[in-house]
Amino acid sequence: MTREELLQGVSVLTLPDSFWRSYGIPAHMPFAGTAEHPLTHKLEEIAVNQAFHTLTQRQQMAVLAHEMGHIRANHPKFIRDMRWECEADDYAVSLGYKEEMIQVLSMYNTDEAKFRIAAMRGGK
Ligand SMILES: [Zn+2]
Repeated sequence: MTREELLQGVSVLTLPDSFWRSYGIPAHMPFAGTAEHPLTHKLEEIAVNQAFHTLTQRQQMAVLAHEMGHIRANHPKFIRDMRWECEADDYAVSLGYKEEMIQVLSMYNTDEAKFRIAAMRGGK
């Protein structure tokens, strides 16, 4: 699958580190999130930081597939729920990016990352 086939017209914006800092995201950690349309509140864009671009091509695809999992399921933007994170991870896994998803999550030493890695390892 190419990046274009994965994204289906969803755009990927690189936002400056000053933006991510306001959300407590350190500049050296690769990060991505979804952005919603201000009127429809539908998720429609993916925002990434500069460090995202230091990932390998397949790791980038894993992260973009995870975000596309949120967009396709139209998860609410501002409510973080581990079920939705795992659902988005499952979408990346279903496209063949399990190892890369685990590699990227392993860069975060957080309880959430450990939980999601265990969920992926536990699954097929
Ligand atoms: Zn997510």
